[in-house]
Amino acid sequence: MRPLTPFPPLQNVTPRPSALQAPVLFTLLVLATLLLPACDEGGPTQPTSPAYVELLSGDGQAVVAGGLFPETVVVEVRDEADRPVPDQLVMVRVDQGDGWVPGPNPRTDEDGRVRLPWYAGTEPGVDQRLRLSAGGISVTVHGEVLTPVPGVSYTGHRAFVEYIPGSLPLVITAPHGGTLRPGDIPEREWGTMVRDYATDDMAYRLADALEERVGARPHLILLHLHRTRLDANRDLEEAAQGNPLAERAWHEFHHWTEVAMKRVKADHGEGFYMDLHGHGKHDDFELGYLLTRSDLEATAEELDQEWAVSKSSLRTLAEDSSLPFSQLIRGEESLGTLYEEEGYTSVPSPVRPYPSGPFFSGGYNTRRHGCREGGAICGYQLELNRENVRDNPVNRQAFAEAHARVMERFFKVHYGVNLANLPPAP
Ligand SMILES: [Zn+2]
Repeated sequence: MRPLTPFPPLQNVTPRPSALQAPVLFTLLVLATLLLPACDEGGPTQPTSPAYVELLSGDGQAVVAGGLFPETVVVEVRDEADRPVPDQLVMVRVDQGDGWVPGPNPRTDEDGRVRLPWYAGTEPGVDQRLRLSAGGISVTVHGEVLTPVPGVSYTGHRAFVEYIPGSLPLVITAPHGGTLRPGDIPEREWGTMVRDYATDDMAYRLADALEERVGARPHLILLHLHRTRLDANRDLEEAAQGNPLAERAWHEFHHWTEVAMKRVKADHGEGFYMDLHGHGKHDDFELGYLLTRSDLEATAEELDQEWAVSKSSLRTLAEDSSLPFSQLIRGEESLGTLYEEEGYTSVPSPVRPYPSGPFFSGGYNTRRHGCREGGAICGYQLELNRENVRDNPVNRQAFAEAHARVMERFFKVHYGVNLANLPPAP
């Protein structure tokens, strides 16, 4: 029962109040009228406004950069009489670090509690702070971000997304090779649904083959959800189509890609990015630099102009390169040539300067994580055909080893870097 002690007994009030006292008496009478009946009925049963926000769990944890803190953050909101306050809006704010909490600001359950998954930010060493407040009362949760260890597999919520860090200046993402179709994520209703066959296995092999060849691994980010559940190479709306679990996996995928990018910049200053895909259109590789089929139909002279450079995912590499842009994308030292020399026909390349039909020029990931908007990490979308490349483990292994040789050469020529002899990370 709510105590009424702050109010003096009415019988002590003088029957002839002065002019100054009259408003006070009136207020007291009104308050007493409002409160006394409630008291007679046993006191207010509904909790009132929040007086305490108590942190029950989730403080003081550590997790790898971009990872989900293992313990759920739980806070309880209580009123002045120590009763839980249900259905109370709790404001969630990241106060320090670039961590994130999925979903909108939550409301407390009937026990006055909210439970929140909390993802660490991308920068190891930055103290992570999350502030939760209800009715003007707040509590701060602290967390620590650990440096990713090369070769260790980290997974996010329900292992839909996997990050295997590396130490090379190379980041590989594989958004379409997943096979998981959990029952609580419905099928997407629109967009492309076809899985890129075996690109998950191929991504592992690309990383292992590079380690075998140069003694260090690229960063690898894989989506294990089937494309019918999430398309991580689309903007959030088309990718997840409103499903919160799928949205969460989408954020994890891109958050970890950003972790990898920051690691590469911190370790090497610059680097390269590949978004790995598979297509079923013909028997050539398609190298997507964000240049469309009609862009690529331009002459070398036209391609060497600023318009082509500035719309491509090789923008900053091209601006720093001594090669004309047309040479960078289809000259003797272009990626297309390097793959051709390994026996894989590729567009664009000197022999196949532009596509003869529909062409994948690069998607959301290449636009978002490449260097078209600037930055030190350029990249491309690699679309592998299936036959003799992805169709069986022997062919996948052969391509993975060829790709390691291609990357070694590419970095030597275009970045002046010997992948087999990189200085140790700072
Ligand atoms: Zn794809």
